[in-house]
Amino acid sequence: MTSGPAETETAFAELYGRAPEGVWAAPGRVNLIGEYTDFNDGFVMPLALPHTALAAVARRTDGRLRLHSTDVPGGVVQLRVDELTPHRGHGWAAYPAGVVWALREAGHPVTGADIQITSTVPTGAGLSSSAALEVVTALALNDLFELGLSPAGLAVVGQRAENAFVGVPCGVMDQMASACCTDGHALYLDTRDLTQRQVPFDLASHGLHLLVVDTRVKHELGDGAYAERRAGCEEGARLLGIPTLRELPYEGLGTALATLAEAGADESVIRCVRHVVGDNHRVEQVIALLDAGRVRAAGPVLNEGHVSLRDDLRVSCPELDLVVATANAAGALGARMTGGGFGGSAIVLVEEADAEAIAQAVREAFASAGHAAPGIFPAVPSAGARRLS
Ligand code: ADP
Ligand code: MG
Repeated sequence: MTSGPAETETAFAELYGRAPEGVWAAPGRVNLIGEYTDFNDGFVMPLALPHTALAAVARRTDGRLRLHSTDVPGGVVQLRVDELTPHRGHGWAAYPAGVVWALREAGHPVTGADIQITSTVPTGAGLSSSAALEVVTALALNDLFELGLSPAGLAVVGQRAENAFVGVPCGVMDQMASACCTDGHALYLDTRDLTQRQVPFDLASHGLHLLVVDTRVKHELGDGAYAERRAGCEEGARLLGIPTLRELPYEGLGTALATLAEAGADESVIRCVRHVVGDNHRVEQVIALLDAGRVRAAGPVLNEGHVSLRDDLRVSCPELDLVVATANAAGALGARMTGGGFGGSAIVLVEEADAEAIAQAVREAFASAGHAAPGIFPAVPSAGARRLS
């Protein structure tokens, strides 16, 4: 597997018989707090990982699009930019092809490209390898074809590719994180209008680590359940007569839940509303704590977020719950699942001095339960998408 920009350039040259015009990088992410809020116009707070998707790219003018990834078996996928059609399969190549399609749909003159991808973002682990792939493609084409899109504009193109071309109904958080995060910061994002603030999140200076625990499981339930929770949120907003759950302030939650119960709302709808309004509030709590330099105090808020995802939204799973329970029992400051759930990854806030012991406790609990060994690494808040060469 290739890793750095030089190897990616070499792989491109061997594949396409010429040098690329550049190499670009876009990271995966974890979300600190604010889950299932981004499709409700709500708040999220992701940070970029050091793990990135790299793309070596050169323009073409003949309408051909050639795509290759060193991370998946199979050769070069060959397409024509004027024949790209949503929902036609294409496997992994649908993600970068979808970006080309979305750019052209928006009127941008992308006349073809040769693209070589390699990535260190674990796939299907809830760390947004798909968004990294979309954003790195969008950024490379933006630079080469001089499209003039902002980082947020690139994120929106990536989301459109995933929603309308690949067919995954995700919100905009993952792409925004990959496009807009900066080193040493978490990104406070208002998904209603994409206003954002970089919040200093220098864990090292506080003597803290944020561990990512990749459970290495992905339960089948996930896709249907995501759509179902989305529908539950929309139904809650409809019954409350508001455009999205974002409009419901935390202070009004009690009254709103009573209104929903009176209106005969399904229990699952009530739970969706309670989770989304609660998690929007938790984002604001965490922001206030980070701004005050009280990073450790964010731990209990992460725990509350997990309980809400587990018991109200019901998108956790035994492996994620085991990470959170074990880490907390071993002395973590707080922990929660991150991303869509039903497997994927959890984050654990720990004292630096306790990190290894807590990681070991989680490994042992997984072994005792008969689960495959989890992947554990620290989430160092890293840079968003950028050109490398
Ligand atoms: P996540 O974004 O959480 O990693 P997704 O299911 O949304 O999980 O996206 C994973 C998919 O993205 C993979 O199945 C593959 O199609 C595509 N993908 C991600 N990284 C790569 C890569 N390096 N090469 C090829 N395809 C990739
Ligand atoms: Mg994804």
